Amino acid sequence: MLPTYRAILFDLDNTLFDYDSSAQAALIGALEEIGRVADGDDRSALRADIYADYHHINAELWKQLENGELDLNELRIHRFQRLFDHRGWSDTDWETFSRRYLDRLASDVRMLPGACRVLTALHHRYTLGVLTNGIAGVQRERIRLSGLAGCFTAVVISGEYGFAKPDPRIFSIALDHLHSPRSQTLFVGDSVTSDMAGADRAGIDFCWFNPENTPHPGMYTTRYCIRRLDDLLDILAENQEIRDPQRITPPS
Ligand SMILES: [Mg+2]
Repeated sequence: MLPTYRAILFDLDNTLFDYDSSAQAALIGALEEIGRVADGDDRSALRADIYADYHHINAELWKQLENGELDLNELRIHRFQRLFDHRGWSDTDWETFSRRYLDRLASDVRMLPGACRVLTALHHRYTLGVLTNGIAGVQRERIRLSGLAGCFTAVVISGEYGFAKPDPRIFSIALDHLHSPRSQTLFVGDSVTSDMAGADRAGIDFCWFNPENTPHPGMYTTRYCIRRLDDLLDILAENQEIRDPQRITPPS
């Protein structure tokens, strides 16, 4: 029998917020500030090229952080050191550049399609929370600017606790803040390595937000899979009626 959920817990970046667009704008803006990207440059080609490098480097470092091999302070600096080394740029103050980038990122909020509609529809019926591995000051400011802070009973940011998703301890902290039992909580996120793996380890039902329709990796139990955030409303309506659970189980 399917549970009736009391709380819905959301990942933030690339689940509710369009992190990739904000990060690209913040990176290019910060590079313009220090003169690495000039107004006359072919901005769209250059943006795509530089951001592709950064995205690759940043994703690798976040995986190291998820594995406990790196802390947030190291990540903040190393990603730009590696990017600048890769592009042959030198003489940069990493700490200052990181601050420029994070200041821009903190003030850039872009919601993914359907995110506002879904949160507004759900927050009267469920206890809602956020569980993110992002940098605390940046994430809190972006939530404030989104105008949606009032929707959330709990905002848990791993950088404030010393362990990050997929560590089950950070999920336990989020459940405590939500005052919701594990069995009556649904976690919604986009990442296989932090969200899907973490929910599986923590024993929390998981809804995979998978807009690119990437094949399921198979090793983690996932209760639902959605390509649009609005689909969550249908799932939760069905959850009351228990019609078509769309359960995905790992291959035996
Ligand atoms: Mg995410």
